[in-house]
Amino acid sequence: MDECLRKDIAGRLGTLHRLKDLLPPDGISPLVKARVDEEMNDLISKGYEPFFSGNAALYILSACQRCGRCCKDINAIAASIEDCRRVAKHLGMSQKRFMMEYTRPHILDGCQVGTARIIKKENAKHCPFFDRNLPGCRIHSVKPRVCSAAYYLSKMNLLLCRQTHRFSTFPECPSDIELRSRIGGFSDRLKEENASALDDLKMTFQSADTEIQLFQLLLRLKGMEIYFGKEKTASLTRKLGLKRMPVEGELKPAAFLYAAVLLEQETAGTPL
Ligand code: SF4
Ligand code: SF4
Repeated sequence: MDECLRKDIAGRLGTLHRLKDLLPPDGISPLVKARVDEEMNDLISKGYEPFFSGNAALYILSACQRCGRCCKDINAIAASIEDCRRVAKHLGMSQKRFMMEYTRPHILDGCQVGTARIIKKENAKHCPFFDRNLPGCRIHSVKPRVCSAAYYLSKMNLLLCRQTHRFSTFPECPSDIELRSRIGGFSDRLKEENASALDDLKMTFQSADTEIQLFQLLLRLKGMEIYFGKEKTASLTRKLGLKRMPVEGELKPAAFLYAAVLLEQETAGTPL
């Protein structure tokens, strides 16, 4: 294999070693891990894997260009009660007034879906919080979780991923399109150099090795942190005895390889 490519892969996998510094001195006990797994499964069913973790990897590798396409084309932008509380506070208005002025109930097949609300907007027009002069979202720091997760991690999107067996987000997202092209280019180069290299990487990510298992755990936790917020995952981090959550940059190098493996399997139509 080309020396540069070999070094690139080794360097990315090498970052997994550093993640071990986050572990408690005696590692995570299997009992604690099993309990935390249960709590995590209550937040997001394990049935959404590998789409949840795969989409978390794509999310942390992409950079929203704040183009506003999803803010215009998606008509049902969900806002949880927690989202409403946060945005209302940011706008200096009561939660009740915010909900009345900016949201409507979430109705599906004539029935109200839970307590979640939908941001009021007209079809094919921008969300009221989009400001083309910024450009972008004028409530960026507090926007609904579904927007912070750039649709990769929303439950609606995960349902779609599970149905279609594809890793997806808002389809016209230029940031996702650019990312997939970058990952595709890397995979093509790898296959040209060595036909079995991607299979070897797949085996690596399926191994029971401590570093790989830790990476998978942290990636899933990071997805939850992005979608549910830091408070929700802080107690899981504490229970696991982790020194802290990794920042996205610490997961990015290996996430790129992991995403390459998953997207290759998706393309080949092999079981994920
Ligand atoms: S809240 Fe912000 S990010 Fe979300 S759709 Fe509206 S403008 Fe876009
Ligand atoms: S379409 Fe993609 S790049 Fe554009 S605002 Fe939405 S998430 Fe960001």
